[in-house]
Amino acid sequence: MTEHAPPAPKKPPDAEADVIVVGAGPAGATTAFYLAQSGLDVLLLDKSRFPREKVCGDGLTPRAVKTLVGMGISVSEQDGWVRNKGLRVIGAGKRMELPWPELASYPGYGLVRTRHDLDETLARRAQQAGARLVEGVTVTGPVRHERTGRISGVTARPDGGDERAYRARIVVAADGNSSRLSVAMGLRKRDDRPLGVAVRTYYKTPRHDDDYLESWLDLWDGDRLLPGYGWIFGMGDGTSNVGLGLLNTSAAFGNTDYHALLRKWLKGMPAEWGFTEENRTQPIRGAALPMGFNRTPHYHQGLLLAGDAGGMVNPFNGEGIAYAMESGEILARTITQALARARRAETERVLAGYPHALSQAYGGYYALGRVFVKAIGRPGLMRFATRHSMSRPALMAFALKLLANLTDPRGDAADRLVNGLSRLAPNPE
Ligand SMILES: Cc1cc2nc3c(=O)[nH]c(=O)nc-3n(C[C@H](O)[C@H](O)[C@H](O)COP(=O)(O)OP(=O)(O)OC[C@H]3O[C@@H](n4cnc5c(N)ncnc54)[C@H](O)[C@@H]3O)c2cc1C
Repeated sequence: MTEHAPPAPKKPPDAEADVIVVGAGPAGATTAFYLAQSGLDVLLLDKSRFPREKVCGDGLTPRAVKTLVGMGISVSEQDGWVRNKGLRVIGAGKRMELPWPELASYPGYGLVRTRHDLDETLARRAQQAGARLVEGVTVTGPVRHERTGRISGVTARPDGGDERAYRARIVVAADGNSSRLSVAMGLRKRDDRPLGVAVRTYYKTPRHDDDYLESWLDLWDGDRLLPGYGWIFGMGDGTSNVGLGLLNTSAAFGNTDYHALLRKWLKGMPAEWGFTEENRTQPIRGAALPMGFNRTPHYHQGLLLAGDAGGMVNPFNGEGIAYAMESGEILARTITQALARARRAETERVLAGYPHALSQAYGGYYALGRVFVKAIGRPGLMRFATRHSMSRPALMAFALKLLANLTDPRGDAADRLVNGLSRLAPNPE
């Protein structure tokens, strides 16, 4: 064992599995669900106990709805899900309602749900499928093979307990944006890939039952329009989730006071919406959004990365939940095939195909997203794009398909254009 492992950690009898998944957020829970469904023994470890909060906008596009439905989760309103019909965009003094596109590949509605509820639903679903969820256990590092350096398990500390080791043939890092496990295996964030920062809070407001997700393009830093947007998502429970996010391609990125920017933006809202300090029900909290594959490679020495750990947030719109879940499914299917191979070399060959599978799914689209992120970071360009697109509904309908990654493989002209551009974009893994 290398210096990463503690000297002689205790090994409880239940500490061995086919696969260890670190982190039971959307990426980890989905990975564990599909692995357990295919009959593998899965240990799903999370430092939190569910239900728990997670800083998020709580907005789910049709892409995310599809992944939930695919896991057999009921998304009915009786079960507490709040539906929305599309995206309302406000910018350059105009507002436009864009219904979600009608497609064969995705449902025609989105959802809103607190992460308190969503993540618990997903973690319990993984448990129902047979994954062994262990809550309140913080993974402290990888256990590595002495000679090869390959990961063969993790060390972890239960709340108030002693560090112990868990072992498996394969380990999945689904531990979110900072992914300490990936870092300990030598996988750092890439400076050449986009990153966002977003803050959010909740307000009591009469707008809580809005049936559109609302996005504001006018975030100003003096006379400069910032690359990012503000959102107001009705939670259906008397409150709205209100927040904003910026991209690292803006000069303002590093030196913005996000709390002040949020307050300044909200000051311009109609008083009857109630976005005041008295109506704020939660602290303003923020976190990073790792975008466009900003940690690679996604497979390294027995460790596979899913969701934010692998930087899978969509650079066009900051959506991360659907991609966390989708990458979890792709990853689980790869592992299932890998572990069914008789020889170690064959298993390895299948695992090594995971980055390629991800690249097939998102590579071209994320490459386009990186170009988009750079372009809107240029002073003036975001302003030009907002002003010109907000008076052209057909262009905005196309933009929704592009920005939310919602197309059919053989759909209409807009679908074919988005798909064609994604195929043509240079696509390094
Ligand atoms: C302000 C903000 C707003 C956002 N809004 C939206 C939105 O509206 N819609 C959307 O789709 N996306 C949104 N996102 C992005 C979205 O939150 C993430 O992309 C998504 O949570 C990624 O899921 P994940 O499972 O990869 O990681 P996470 O959700 O971060 O889950 C990681 C899990 O790992 C656990 N963990 C971490 N370290 C350890 C450890 N050492 N040991 C054990 N467990 C560990 C954590 O407890 C956690 O449960 C937003 C992000 C931010 C910051």
